[in-house]
Amino acid sequence: MVRRMSGKPTVLKLGGSVITDKEKQLTPDLKAVERLADEISRAKIPSLILVHGGGSFGHPVAELYNIAGGYDDPSQILGFSQTHLVMTLLNSWVMEALIRHNIPAVEVNPSSCVVTKAGRIANMELEPLKKMLKLGFVPVLYGDAVLDSEKGFAILSGDQIVSSLAIKLGADRIIMGADVDGLYTADPKADSSANLIENITLEELKSLKHKIEGSKATDVTGGMLGKVQEIKIAIEHDIETVIVNATKPLRVYKALKGEKVTGTIIKKG
Ligand code: ADP
Repeated sequence: MVRRMSGKPTVLKLGGSVITDKEKQLTPDLKAVERLADEISRAKIPSLILVHGGGSFGHPVAELYNIAGGYDDPSQILGFSQTHLVMTLLNSWVMEALIRHNIPAVEVNPSSCVVTKAGRIANMELEPLKKMLKLGFVPVLYGDAVLDSEKGFAILSGDQIVSSLAIKLGADRIIMGADVDGLYTADPKADSSANLIENITLEELKSLKHKIEGSKATDVTGGMLGKVQEIKIAIEHDIETVIVNATKPLRVYKALKGEKVTGTIIKKG
């Protein structure tokens, strides 16, 4: 992928499985956070938006209170607060590392600037984000519990934020930092014969999706395919997307610089 020098922002997503220890609740992977902050700092991207996932912070708490299912019982209200709280805790580890590496990062709290409708972003306050980008700040958002006009509340994934912001802010490209090398022909953690797909178009993706879904009893609703499903919306707007392994040194750096890197490039056509 050749990096285009333009004022258009790059959107970088750091997966929850990359920046947390998914096996241990509320445990950040500080080594990974530190390394990624260094890579982002060294890449010196002129216009950058960062989004991170929840990993072992947001997901277990949100699940406990079924926040994603919407408001059903008053006992969930405190669960919403707790879900948001743990996300801000994870976010502060990320913010601290970024700012220490001289990245002018500013946290943008999704539960305060987004309202969803049946789980999809319906309203999002973009003015502060636009002004931040103009001044050279790096806005940092994350998957969060948000208010929903139909369900009371919902879980807004970092992936949906990425896609939506990339479109609304006219991003140049999206870089998805995952805990695997990219999109495979099957879940690489469950199937050792899975092959990495280096390049794919949306059309090719459609037939691949059928193949992947038709094979094995792996959970294909979440994970990488769910991610790709979400990002597809941005790719349809011609925003090139690359998925790289953010647990491996220099992959995110190279992707940010537009250098050749192991991963999956997804293009519109
Ligand atoms: P994160 O929480 O970091 O955003 P997820 O854990 O939700 O990411 O999704 C990434 C996971 O999806 C990978 O670790 C992988 O095990 C799984 N996965 C399932 N199917 C595939 C596939 N076809 N290619 C790549 N990864 C896949």
